[in-house]
Amino acid sequence: MADSVLVIGGGVCGIQASLDLGDRGHHVYLVEREPSIGGRMALLDKVFPTNDCSICILAPKMITCFNHPNIEVISYAELEELTGEAGNFKAKIRKKARYVDEDKCTGCGSCCEACVLEGRIPDECNQGFSKRSAAYIPFMQAVPRVATIDPENCLYVTRGKCKRPCVDACQRGAIDLEQKDQILTLDIGVVIVATGLTIYDPTPLAEYGYGRFDNVIHSMEYERLINASGPTGGHLTRRSDSERPKRIAYIQCVGARDQRSGHPYCSSVCCMYATKDSMLAYIHDNDTENFIFYTDLRAPGKGFDEYIKRGEEEYGITYIRARPGEITQDEETKNLRVWYEDTTSGGVKDLEVDMVVLSTAFIPRQDSRDLAKKLGISTDEYGFFAASDSLTSPVDSSTKGIFVAGACTSPMDVTDSVTQGGAAAERASEVLSMMEAVASP
Ligand SMILES: Cc1cc2nc3c(=O)[nH]c(=O)nc-3n(C[C@H](O)[C@H](O)[C@H](O)COP(=O)(O)OP(=O)(O)OC[C@H]3O[C@@H](n4cnc5c(N)ncnc54)[C@H](O)[C@@H]3O)c2cc1C
Ligand code: SF4
Ligand code: SF4
Repeated sequence: MADSVLVIGGGVCGIQASLDLGDRGHHVYLVEREPSIGGRMALLDKVFPTNDCSICILAPKMITCFNHPNIEVISYAELEELTGEAGNFKAKIRKKARYVDEDKCTGCGSCCEACVLEGRIPDECNQGFSKRSAAYIPFMQAVPRVATIDPENCLYVTRGKCKRPCVDACQRGAIDLEQKDQILTLDIGVVIVATGLTIYDPTPLAEYGYGRFDNVIHSMEYERLINASGPTGGHLTRRSDSERPKRIAYIQCVGARDQRSGHPYCSSVCCMYATKDSMLAYIHDNDTENFIFYTDLRAPGKGFDEYIKRGEEEYGITYIRARPGEITQDEETKNLRVWYEDTTSGGVKDLEVDMVVLSTAFIPRQDSRDLAKKLGISTDEYGFFAASDSLTSPVDSSTKGIFVAGACTSPMDVTDSVTQGGAAAERASEVLSMMEAVASP
């Protein structure tokens, strides 16, 4: 019987599950698709309800996880196939070519600076607000902190045509442009799936003008703009003129609780992070006015109501119960006018602001159904991974020995993702021990 655990997804949930299992003496393979572990939390500025710096909390966990004697982090990798059954799974993992030898690279960044495409490729981590090279380190606190050469853009990898200054720039001889994908075959006892979620692209909701109006952005873009390690060094600026917005509107439930988008459920976290976003804008410059347009305020956690109250009383946030019908743009100033029916006082009203932030729905990853098929587990009607019984076994999937945890099961905040990561680790450990006891009575 195999007693290793495969954790798929290295966000805060997968990291927590791996740490808990590693500390109990289980061997863990943590497989992360991206070049670095950390997931979405690594890209957030502050986190509600404490407004602590997100990466300051997460980075120590990322490093502990990477250096843990019982945890093997396999980054830039994905599951190809899972066969067998609980206690005796075989996992085929594709470790994608990074074109950099991870053991030699020190993360100095010289190759990134030398790359002929420096400053030419939209940086995904910064939501395209800045540009990177084909050789890149995704963000400052990346773990592992090694360079990756992007196979879709590198001139040598795609066309075989580049003088390859990156190779000469690397004093460690770490660049290996002939590197190939590797297939690893692992013997696994149990699996934890913690692949997180993604956010809805608001472009189809034409009334909000996303993609048409420069100063309409979505919440993840806002997170990067207000982040000190983001593309503007934490100075919140408008796309149209790089000026600081002094009046900001946040529109809740964009694509959520909406039959048109196919996501009629509540994303549960956005009322809270819009309040956080407003607080941050006010903390940066306390002449900023913030207006949150909400459907109903969802603040179900401990201390959450008090947080909203603080938003109102200490940070001057104006909460307006309305679902705006349209946003128009002043062609000259690029200011925005939000048109809405105020459901509290009645009547159609409008509000002029400098920037609009759309709190977009949390939705399952596009490939969640494909991954469910590979694993032989069920999804719910939207594509989130389903628990065998969401009331009594919230982290057990429909298949024995496979557990599901965190935001890949439904929208949830960091605290709940950590709790579920811990719960999945506990169940995984319990099932391994039971199987071991049966195998060697
Ligand atoms: C704009 C915004 C603001 C937020 N603000 C807050 C806040 O202030 N406070 C708070 O508590 N929460 C906040 N959240 C929610 C928070 O980001 C999530 O609760 C948390 O990130 C969920 O953690 P997770 O590990 O489940 O998923 P993720 O963080 O999404 O991590 C999943 C990981 O799995 C990897 N992965 C995906 N598919 C695969 C695959 N097939 N194979 C291998 N790896 C894979 C991903 O690359 C990623 O690293 C916010 C979310 C958003 C969008
Ligand atoms: S590949 Fe070489 S030059 Fe690039 S970051 Fe690593 S050590 Fe530095
Ligand atoms: S081979 Fe050329 S394009 Fe590719 S990373 Fe090196 S310098 Fe950049």
